[in-house]
Amino acid sequence: MTAPFFGGCACGAIRYVCSRAPVAMLNGHCLDCQRSSGAPFASGFIVAEADLQVRGMPKTYSLRASSGALATRSFCPQCGSPLFTRGEANATFLSVRFPTLDDTSAFQPMLDIWTARAQPWVCFSQAIPHYPQTP
Ligand SMILES: [Zn+2]
Repeated sequence: MTAPFFGGCACGAIRYVCSRAPVAMLNGHCLDCQRSSGAPFASGFIVAEADLQVRGMPKTYSLRASSGALATRSFCPQCGSPLFTRGEANATFLSVRFPTLDDTSAFQPMLDIWTARAQPWVCFSQAIPHYPQTP
């Protein structure tokens, strides 16, 4: 993914620009990822919060993720689109949900994590590594 790149929520109330390419792109299969995305898994990319400029005011909630760490997730208060996740272990980085990208074709997952919690009918790419929990 080449920087800068742009994205936002479904209704356009929240927009962002990121000035640096992601450090990782991944699929998360823990139950919390499933619930927060409303899908069998959550796909996102990791960027430094300092490289992300956000316009609009997302709402947030926090919970203990499967790893035991506190995760703070944000979403658009108007359309409900999941946007960003901050984990307490690496609080200067954010995970950004890939469907928010203006150009979703730029997203290429590099690994699958928490596959121990994946639904049995999810098909995995054999081209990337899988980890039963967080590697
Ligand atoms: Zn929205």
